[in-house]
Amino acid sequence: MSDCIFCKIAKKEIESYVIEETENFISFLDIKPHAPGHTLLIPKKHVANLEELPQELGEEFVFLSKRLVTLLSKALETKDFTIGINHGKLAGQAVEHLHLHFIPRFKDDKGGSIHSVVYNPPKEELSVIYEKIMKVKNES
Ligand code: 5GP
Ligand code: ZN
Repeated sequence: MSDCIFCKIAKKEIESYVIEETENFISFLDIKPHAPGHTLLIPKKHVANLEELPQELGEEFVFLSKRLVTLLSKALETKDFTIGINHGKLAGQAVEHLHLHFIPRFKDDKGGSIHSVVYNPPKEELSVIYEKIMKVKNES
């Protein structure tokens, strides 16, 4: 996509601190890091979200995530990370090109867990939600 900032990073039209690169993926330091070593992993092909990620790239996505954790962990001297995707506008996705955040965590960094992102428990019983999901699953 011509006006997508991450497509431009993937094509090296915009500079970034590249950490790992393969034919299909590139990872680089976030320009406004929330922690030392805050890194993003993106597919080079423009996809907005996981649903659009081609099935055949899934394995490499996970493999590279694992490699980044090992690398960042040694470099930043921590074994702890918050890893996640702001998946869609309501979840806070600002750049509409799929990206996985790796945020190294440190003692007393004053951050929370993923549970602190939102607290909106369902009004229905778990069984009702579960049935909704199973209905879609069984119809697909
Ligand atoms: P989102 O809110 O979409 O999950 O996060 C987008 C992330 O991309 C932000 O953390 C932001 O700092 C980062 N970002 C936005 N533009 C650039 C850029 O031009 N270069 C780099 N390296 N990171 C960027
Ligand atoms: Zn893009």
